[in-house]
Amino acid sequence: MKKYLGIDIGGGSIRGSVVDESGKIYSEHRETTDRFSENEAFLSAVERVIEKNFKSEKFEKIGIGSPGPIDIDTGFIFSSANLVNLKNTPIIPHIEKKFNLPVRFNNDANCAALGEFHFGKGKGFTNLIVLTLGTGLGGGWINNGKIYNGYKGNGMEAGHVTVVMNGAKCGCGQNGCAESYFSARGLVNRYKDSTGDTLGSAADFFSLVQKGNPVAMQVLDFGINALAELIRNLIHITNTEKIIFVGGLTRSYDIFGKQLIEKVNEIIFPVFRNYTKIEVGSTLAGTLGAAALCFEI
Ligand SMILES: [Zn+2]
Repeated sequence: MKKYLGIDIGGGSIRGSVVDESGKIYSEHRETTDRFSENEAFLSAVERVIEKNFKSEKFEKIGIGSPGPIDIDTGFIFSSANLVNLKNTPIIPHIEKKFNLPVRFNNDANCAALGEFHFGKGKGFTNLIVLTLGTGLGGGWINNGKIYNGYKGNGMEAGHVTVVMNGAKCGCGQNGCAESYFSARGLVNRYKDSTGDTLGSAADFFSLVQKGNPVAMQVLDFGINALAELIRNLIHITNTEKIIFVGGLTRSYDIFGKQLIEKVNEIIFPVFRNYTKIEVGSTLAGTLGAAALCFEI
């Protein structure tokens, strides 16, 4: 079976795994990255991940999932909120030249969707949207069995769809985005708006909810309604068969999932209620979705 290297670029590390088309993992190496790495240091770290994996296991193509915004035609990362000093990073031209191998490239949320499509809860389904509920809120869309890229690979920026007109300030600089109400950063910031207290993490926030803290419960309630509006918009625009959640906040799905699904069902057209499935995804390594970029061509 053919083997591919999948590379998952995160805020704190770059992970690489050699995998085959069945999702079997043959090797795994990672490099930690400094949030303030500039282009050169960052590209050297990517090279080391490739070299270490190649020593363990040979592969014929490389798939890279990166935070965006990106340009999938030129293979550049324009910038990244988590790797703040990256600027117009020529990741794909650099890697192709250095290793003389074909490289496929896409944004990390699209790779998460591709991972679910090939190996997770999306297996056997041709239309699905994955929402990444983590520090921020991302989206990836598999449309008739293919990633929906839009013009340059930046389609389905689901977190920055407006759900509240003139609403809370978002990290993107605008107001009322879904991400500013339902993401780790959004929930913690909305709690701070009401109390002045800065919580350390989303886990702290959900633990307050479980203890019955009225402010936290109110913030979550609003966040659930905001996320439901986003999902309503997505379902009505795309007629997707599935909405799949991945990311750190899914660990608290027991706390918000039931209410969320009830709310979505209340506000979508009845016809969609009959067949649209909403569920938590598999816990897949990000490298699997990145490697799956190589399956397509
Ligand atoms: Zn935004």
